[in-house]
Amino acid sequence: MAKQESKREPSLPADAGFSTRAIRSGTHRSEYGEHSEALFLTSSFVFEDAQQAADRFQNKELGVVYSRFTNPSVQMFEERLACLEGAEDCVATASGMSAILAVCLGLLKAGDQIVTSGSLFGATIQLFDNFMQKFGVSVRYVSLTDPAAWQAAITPQTKLFYLETPSNPLTELADLQAIGQIARQAGVITVVDNCFLTPALQQPLAFPIDLVLHSATKYIDGQGRVLGGAVAGPKALVDQVRQVVRTCGPSMSPFNAWVLHKSLETLSVRMRAHNANAQALAEWLQAHPAVAKVHYPGLASHPQHALAQRQQCGGGAVVAFELKGTDSVELTEKAFALIDRVQLFSRTGNLGDTRSIITHPASTTHGRISEEARARAGIGAGLLRLAVGLEDLVDLQKDLEQGLR
Ligand SMILES: *Cc1c(COP(=O)(O)O)cnc(C)c1O
Repeated sequence: MAKQESKREPSLPADAGFSTRAIRSGTHRSEYGEHSEALFLTSSFVFEDAQQAADRFQNKELGVVYSRFTNPSVQMFEERLACLEGAEDCVATASGMSAILAVCLGLLKAGDQIVTSGSLFGATIQLFDNFMQKFGVSVRYVSLTDPAAWQAAITPQTKLFYLETPSNPLTELADLQAIGQIARQAGVITVVDNCFLTPALQQPLAFPIDLVLHSATKYIDGQGRVLGGAVAGPKALVDQVRQVVRTCGPSMSPFNAWVLHKSLETLSVRMRAHNANAQALAEWLQAHPAVAKVHYPGLASHPQHALAQRQQCGGGAVVAFELKGTDSVELTEKAFALIDRVQLFSRTGNLGDTRSIITHPASTTHGRISEEARARAGIGAGLLRLAVGLEDLVDLQKDLEQGLR
């Protein structure tokens, strides 16, 4: 985009704060001088002459060719997200899953090994077990919370450490400093799925972590409208992922990029509000007689509360809790009854919205994986996951109270 380069917003001061960067970075203006960024809803671009077409195709001139490769709206989103994650480079993808797939295809080959934990997003486990293994990539599951287990799992074939922190839905934390250090010493690439906290609450690249990955569908959009994903990190690694996206096609739609680019402007304000609501609700649930246990990193009772205070700003929006009960039949009945009784909480699996949602992971998000994999992920029948939205706290409490009664 050599031409658009000159029309960028004046560069930001090096010490610009998070919200200033979220609002002012990654802006390209067209000849009309629009204040809000334009949407470049076009599949392809025209050239001034045959020579320019040749130069663009042969990469002798930087510039746009076709929206599977580059699109100004997508580039603006990529630049802004890179700026927020403290990354040199970023590539956007059609969804979070395609970001994970592109990382695997770009960085792994048959014979390589992924070391990861069982506490992963359900579809990520399926991608690893059903597809990556089919192409000769082996997967080793270790405890997310035990850095020594990651160290012990390393073999000459280990290429990638893949982790989510906090994990879904139990909010277990990985020690980014310790695990990142182990990987660096062994020459293993680390990838962190930062979708639960976003760069507003956690910036993995400030630790010895190589790549950050997102389902932008969640809190980056934050309003439940579009699918998107992204991978950010050093240019040398992101380029390998970008080649997959450009060739294989899971590129982000310009429309989605435009929506997500705008969403980033309010990310910090939204995440702080999610955080405050979730913290208050977690404390309230912990004191509730029908609740056996609450999983939330912002609670002093969380086994890794001290680590949470070191590596993230607040607990995030996701709160998981376990109902009191004896066996899985009774627990499932109670969990279903609560979900059926709530009136405000949405009954949906898709977290990362202004609207609060309630999910029964064992029968939904983790329902299609084997019983064994579910046990490995610690998903019991009485476990419920809340993704706390931005409604008034008192209304959320009332809704859960009448549901739990
Ligand atoms: C939703 C989610 C994904 C997948 O993202 P999509 O945009 O739905 O493809 C990956 N990781 C985590 C932690 C998620 O919550």
